[in-house]
This record gives sequence, structure tokens and C-alpha cells, in this order.
Amino acid sequence: MIPRKFEYYSPQTLQQALGLLRKHGGDAKVLAGGQSLIPMMKLRLVSPKYVVDINNVKGLSYIKEVAGQIRIGAMTRHADIEHSSLIKQKLPLMTDAAIHIADQQVRNLGTIGGAISHADPAGDWNAVMLALEAEFVARGATQRIIKATRFFKGPFQTALRPTEILTEIRIPQLKGRVGTAYMKFERKAGDFATVGVASAVRLNGEDRLEKAGIGLCAVGASAIKATDAEKVLVGQRPTSELVEEAAAAASRQSDPSSDLRGSAEYKKEMVKVFTRRSLRLAFERAGYKL
Ligand SMILES: Cc1cc2nc3c(=O)[nH]c(=O)nc-3n(C[C@H](O)[C@H](O)[C@H](O)COP(=O)(O)OP(=O)(O)OC[C@H]3O[C@@H](n4cnc5c(N)ncnc54)[C@H](O)[C@@H]3O)c2cc1C
Repeated sequence: MIPRKFEYYSPQTLQQALGLLRKHGGDAKVLAGGQSLIPMMKLRLVSPKYVVDINNVKGLSYIKEVAGQIRIGAMTRHADIEHSSLIKQKLPLMTDAAIHIADQQVRNLGTIGGAISHADPAGDWNAVMLALEAEFVARGATQRIIKATRFFKGPFQTALRPTEILTEIRIPQLKGRVGTAYMKFERKAGDFATVGVASAVRLNGEDRLEKAGIGLCAVGASAIKATDAEKVLVGQRPTSELVEEAAAAASRQSDPSSDLRGSAEYKKEMVKVFTRRSLRLAFERAGYKL
């Protein structure tokens, strides 16, 4: 399929890119890795009149630690995250997730900012962002910080305005005895998730859970923060029974549809299984034996 006619811009600075979005508003689309936008244009599911390619805008691709926070530029490729030693050391759930996104070719081009802005309900990063309570920097006429919990509005819908560009992902400091994990259930390597579960836990000196974050993808109209499961965990000393209880709560909060990947009932069962596995690995990585 060939996309409908469009005008292509390749700005060199963020200001130029933002100027183009201001000028063309809802008729323009940002092009990042193109791994979702180009197929959608070819299928004519979207037909922007103007495409603003931000690949030549400098300073949007990095992974760094600032005051304990991990900051990731929106144009950072999935493959850069996959191979980052800082990420592997501080946020192993992001390495888990990156490895399982599509195939090497897609990971070489696709960006974390593009994936988050695209807000595919099955997108792996979205579950991870909710578990970590990340924040997103949106630049338009001004700068806004949007919490991940307020960002995903529905299938392929976000809090971003058409005149804004997502520039940075900020992951809050994870101090102390922390463990994180992402588990993806896929039909075959490289497939979108049937179910994806991200977990982040922090234990205090008495082995009680100070904080628990759980994000689910592919089991609702958008990624879900499994708040009921988090409530089950916080304040408690982790046990296998507690993990079971949390997994059951996550399953109840999920709202999958039946499709070629399985029935809604089956997927709910898989949410339970993968929440259990994801939490167990997070505890193991926090140095806690269940
Ligand atoms: C074969 C295949 C398999 C895939 N499998 C998976 C998978 O298993 N898991 C998974 O999570 N994803 C998967 N994907 C999607 C992939 O992760 C994409 O890279 C991602 O969804 C989009 O990122 P992108 O950088 O390519 O964005 P683009 O395709 O360039 O853009 C996507 C959308 O986001 C907007 N956008 C992009 N960047 C910004 C920005 N900085 N600010 C504002 N708006 C922006 C664009 O305007 C567009 O609407 C797959 C894709 C393919 C082609």
C-alpha cells in the first residue's frame, strides 16, 4: 500500500519542529522511528498532511542519571535501552521489556518516546511506565510534566496535545532494597504481548513492602495500573500467599477482550500467572527469598 500524499519536513532543532506543529496543528504528525506511523500511513489508517521527522533534532537521544532519577530522551531507540548497562543495573525490568519488543530491526529504529506517544494498548513500555510511576516531559509553547498515570487515555490516545512533542521520560529514584521485573507472554518471539506484567517493589529494613508498582498491558483499552494488587502488597511482608492474592487482584482488575490470542477468560488467567512470576522475580532481584 502507498500512503496518501503528504508534505515532509526534517527540522534540525526542537524549536523548528514545534513551530511546524504549531503551524499545522492536527494536520501534522511527528515521525520518530516510523515503526508504527509508517505502517499506519501505508494502510491509510492515518493520513497526515504534514510529517515532521524529528530524527535530525539533536539532543533527544540519551540515557542518564540525574539526582538519582533515570532520564531517557524520547528518541532513544529500543535497542539502546536493551544494551544500556545503566538500565540493566538500575532498572532490569526495562532490559527485560526491550529484549522482547518486536525484532532487532524494529528495535534498532523504534523509539521509547514513539512507543509511549503511540499508546498501543499492547505496548510493552506503557506497562513498565505505570509500574515505575514515570513522568513524561511534553514540550509545546511551554513545558509540561505529565505523570504516566494520567497520560494513557485510551487505545492510541494520550494526554499529549497535537502541538506537543514528548521529549523525555523520567523514572523516579528507586532507593533501597528494590527489585523490578517485566514478564511478557507472547505467542512467538517478537510478537505483541498476549499479556505483559511489569513489577517494581521496595522493601524496608523489616522486610515489609514500602512500595509496589504493577503495570499491565494488552489486557484493557489501554495499559492498566493494577492498583488493587498494589494495595494488597503495601505494608505487608511478602509471602507466596500474598503474591497469589496480589496476582488474583491484578487479574480481577484486568479487562481483556477475546481475540486471536485467546479468550478474555484465558487472558485473565494469564494475568494471574504472569503477575505471580513478575512479582517473584522482582522480589528475587530485591534479594528477598519468598
Ligand atoms: C513488526 C513490529 C512488531 C512490533 N512489536 C512490538 C512489541 O512487541 N511491543 C511493542 O511495545 N511494540 C512493538 N512494535 C511497535 C514498536 O515498538 C514501535 O517502535 C513503536 O510503537 C513506535 O515507536 P516509533 O519510534 O517507531 O514511533 P513512530 O512510528 O514514528 O510514531 C508513532 C506515533 O507516535 C507519535 N510520536 C512519535 N514520537 C513522538 C514524540 N516524541 N512526541 C510526540 N509524538 C510522537 C507519532 O506521531 C505517531 O503517531 C512493533 C512494531 C512492528 C513494526
